[in-house]
Amino acid sequence: MMYGSGNRLFASPGRYLQGPTALDQLGQIVQPFGTRPILVMDEPVCELIGDRVLSQLTAVGLAPHVALFTGEITYANVEQLTESCRGLGAGVVVGLGGGKVLDTAKAMSLRLGVPMVTVPTIASNDSPTSSVIAMYDDEHRLISVDKMVANPAAVIVDTSLIVEAPTRFLRSGIGDALSKVFEADACQNGTGMTPLGTRPLGIASAIGQQCYQTLRADSVQALRDCEEHRVTDAVERVVEAVVLLSGLSFENGGLSLAHSLTRGLMVTEGAKSLLHGYHVAWGAVVQVAAEGRSDSEVLELMSFVRATGLPASSEDLGIVAPLEPQHHVIATLTLTAPHLANFSKPVTETLIVEAIQRVDRLATQLPVS
Ligand SMILES: [Zn+2]
Repeated sequence: MMYGSGNRLFASPGRYLQGPTALDQLGQIVQPFGTRPILVMDEPVCELIGDRVLSQLTAVGLAPHVALFTGEITYANVEQLTESCRGLGAGVVVGLGGGKVLDTAKAMSLRLGVPMVTVPTIASNDSPTSSVIAMYDDEHRLISVDKMVANPAAVIVDTSLIVEAPTRFLRSGIGDALSKVFEADACQNGTGMTPLGTRPLGIASAIGQQCYQTLRADSVQALRDCEEHRVTDAVERVVEAVVLLSGLSFENGGLSLAHSLTRGLMVTEGAKSLLHGYHVAWGAVVQVAAEGRSDSEVLELMSFVRATGLPASSEDLGIVAPLEPQHHVIATLTLTAPHLANFSKPVTETLIVEAIQRVDRLATQLPVS
């Protein structure tokens, strides 16, 4: 493996706080950023925690401004919401909610030139820790991946909120996180760059490993506990892997084929309605197959993916026959992703289609769940 020359960068949030009462620390955390924090929320989250958050902030002498988010995260929407907050003298933007709201808060902080804090109410992916902003059009098609100048100043993950959300969100988070060690290793073995634009530091693979081992040990139990709305050790460990470790791993270690494959699934009938992490879990399986690993290694990963209720084959994804033309469309769109240099060999349409078909053949050897 080549270490090579050149500068390398490490990025992380300023603070990461996780636990069953983490939300109660919000006031203390945002207080140093001035008296007028902007809170970005949608209507359901406002109903869920709005009063609790506002009374906490006013109790420490702050005068928060609520920017209510509706619709999609589009440039027009972000500009409009940002304009409505100009002149308030805000020193920080706080996003409370799911991916769209957090990304909107990130985009607003970028435009207002102030730091931001994420308070995820679901753990469906690792975006709360990262500087990445996914921008969409009105039809929810991904049109751009923008970046903040720095990661969130703080990430506050209240696990009591996470276990109140439907379990499919945590399952998606597990899917998004389980690919990261394979992607960081592929980036290291290839010639590509991390999202920070440098070759990875060794720490990224170590974080990816820790993330994967945690998921292997605790995911099934954590999903069961989440279903019963219980904050347990397994939940705490898995949430750390999903939000913190996964985020640090991809931003510092790089993405690869697993995430590239999601470009195809986002437009594939049957699969497109699934959450991002469901796509990534299958993408990880296909990546491992494309790397040329042995059948037993691929099957081992597929068994784990299935055990967590994530898709391990075309059929699991809900893609209906005829499969082959759809596999070619998925492969073509995968080739438009920017992460393909992060792979140990050249990625071609044939390589992708053959890997997808190999996985589908192997799936017939898995026990029916
Ligand atoms: Zn992802």
